[in-house]
Amino acid sequence: LSAAAVALDAHLDEGQRALLERTAALATTTLAPLAAAGEEGRVDRSLLRALAENGLLERLFTTAGDGRQPEVSALELCLIREGLARGCTAAETAFALQGLGTFPLLQAGQPQLVDEWLPRVAAGEAVAAFALTEPDAGSDVAALSLRAERDGEGYRLSGEKIWISNAPEADFYSVFARTTDGAGARGLTAFFVPGDSEGLSGEPLRLLAPHPIGRLSFDRVYVRPEQLLGEVDGGFRVAMGTLDMFRPSVGAFAIGMARAALDSAVAHARTRQAFGRPLKDLQAIAHRLADIAARVHAARLAVHQAAAAYDSGVRPVTQTAAIAKLLATEIAQEAVDAAIQVHGAQALEQGHPLEHLYREVRAPRIYEGASEVQREIIARGLFPRDREQRS
Ligand SMILES: Cc1cc2nc3c(=O)[nH]c(=O)nc-3n(C[C@H](O)[C@H](O)[C@H](O)COP(=O)(O)OP(=O)(O)OC[C@H]3O[C@@H](n4cnc5c(N)ncnc54)[C@H](O)[C@@H]3O)c2cc1C
Repeated sequence: LSAAAVALDAHLDEGQRALLERTAALATTTLAPLAAAGEEGRVDRSLLRALAENGLLERLFTTAGDGRQPEVSALELCLIREGLARGCTAAETAFALQGLGTFPLLQAGQPQLVDEWLPRVAAGEAVAAFALTEPDAGSDVAALSLRAERDGEGYRLSGEKIWISNAPEADFYSVFARTTDGAGARGLTAFFVPGDSEGLSGEPLRLLAPHPIGRLSFDRVYVRPEQLLGEVDGGFRVAMGTLDMFRPSVGAFAIGMARAALDSAVAHARTRQAFGRPLKDLQAIAHRLADIAARVHAARLAVHQAAAAYDSGVRPVTQTAAIAKLLATEIAQEAVDAAIQVHGAQALEQGHPLEHLYREVRAPRIYEGASEVQREIIARGLFPRDREQRS
């Protein structure tokens, strides 16, 4: 590593730096070739097994202390996601979705259910998904309407979920459903629903995001009382507990993509000749890349700070996580766009790594809280009293 690279990582300790570099190398050398052999838009089970064999999923699911918290810290989660994204976005997404889909189970599932499923998820054998969004409820989670009606000791779920990553192929879903009408976010409950449950069906959707994603239909799907995740009407807490842990790491995913784009632009600017000299000698290009490098670094520090705040027990981390996710996902879009501009036409050819990144980098500005929602959270922090007085 160059002295400049070491200085950019000076806030990390040796173990953290090694984790990041090891993960990035694994993504480039082992996982990217595997992912290239997979089918876009389908769950790649061999990639998941490779993530497991290399100990990454295990890190996510080895629990510490009370057994409800993964041993991996939020900062380590960010470093793994950044490292994977630098070399293989498909592996990154597969890794993150295992975490997102399983975290509600880990946090709030009954011990027997956790014991039954966790080893399978950690081994890359069971595919997880997090099913919150509905056709009429995206950012506004309080508007969820998928119904959970009592049936004896259990419940029956009826309704639809949409844009659920890993659907309809996942082996289980953490599903958020309405148990109390008119109670907004306080009337939601989380359920564990195996993918082969009777009455559950789905279809894949083709989105400008290369990972698998789909729609789910619930036709009176029966869930046993043991499949409840947490308390009745306590589902919002389970969802937010999961998103609190994962939100800074969405920023880390974006930073990984931004760094991959920047590295590729720098390499290209060094070698591509125009008007008798390399592109890097054109100040317009060098300064554009310098500007991107500075802003990527600032956003990366914000991501690491938000994760460190979470790890040190600060709650809520909503404000700092919102700042981190907003800055990182917005600059990543610009970084990929600038890298494409520096490359010219060749970056737009189907199959070029930047063409792939261009499709991949868009969605994180929408999911797990769109940029506008993050700004709304940040604004609430700026004007707390004004809002209290109005309400
Ligand atoms: C690739 C991808 C993967 C996804 N994976 C999952 C998944 O695994 N599980 C899951 O449950 N969901 C998933 N989603 C869905 C995602 O969570 C929603 O798209 C997101 O919550 C936004 O909801 P919406 O698309 O319905 O947009 P809407 O909520 O309808 O928002 C539309 C626009 O209005 C803006 N807006 C909304 N509210 C406000 C406000 N208060 N102030 C200012 N502006 C506002 C939004 O920012 C946005 O620009 C995924 C989405 C994508 C694109």
